[in-house]
Amino acid sequence: MKVKFWGVRGSIASPGPNTVRYGGNTTCIEIRTDNNELIIIDAGTGIFPLSQTLLKELPVTANVLITHSHWDHIQGLPLFLPNFIAGNTLRLHGAFDLVSGKGIEQVMAVQLQYSFFPVREEEMKARIEYVTLAPEQSIRIGSATVTPYMMNHPVVDFGYRIEANGKSIFFTGDHE
Ligand SMILES: [Zn+2]
Repeated sequence: MKVKFWGVRGSIASPGPNTVRYGGNTTCIEIRTDNNELIIIDAGTGIFPLSQTLLKELPVTANVLITHSHWDHIQGLPLFLPNFIAGNTLRLHGAFDLVSGKGIEQVMAVQLQYSFFPVREEEMKARIEYVTLAPEQSIRIGSATVTPYMMNHPVVDFGYRIEANGKSIFFTGDHE
């Protein structure tokens, strides 16, 4: 398994000379299994430069795991470039939101309201699927087993354990 950090900042993107070492983008982590399956944890602004690299390997199936719905973890989703190209699949995974009573589809729907973004979801060319997860209920993503665990945060927030090919990684994200 390979892990690459595309965004490590919280609250807001912070480019500039003070953040050159680790970059100024908000949370986004790329994980590749040994079979090259693509798992992405969080869709902060770091998912944009990640998505630019994906244009070299189309068509892609991107399995995105959202830890929670705060902006810094979702705000890159509208500009995830494979969404605009037919043949790609975005499979968005995340928690049921107790505040709104909606599943993970909400994080896309809210951001793609026409007042806020010029391209509607139905105009996007990729196939977009939603998988609402329950705590400690494992799912399979290709050769990987992914298990969400509840973290301590103002909204429902998952940490993710990902196991593949005899290795595992756990990402907590925001956690008090
Ligand atoms: Zn948060």
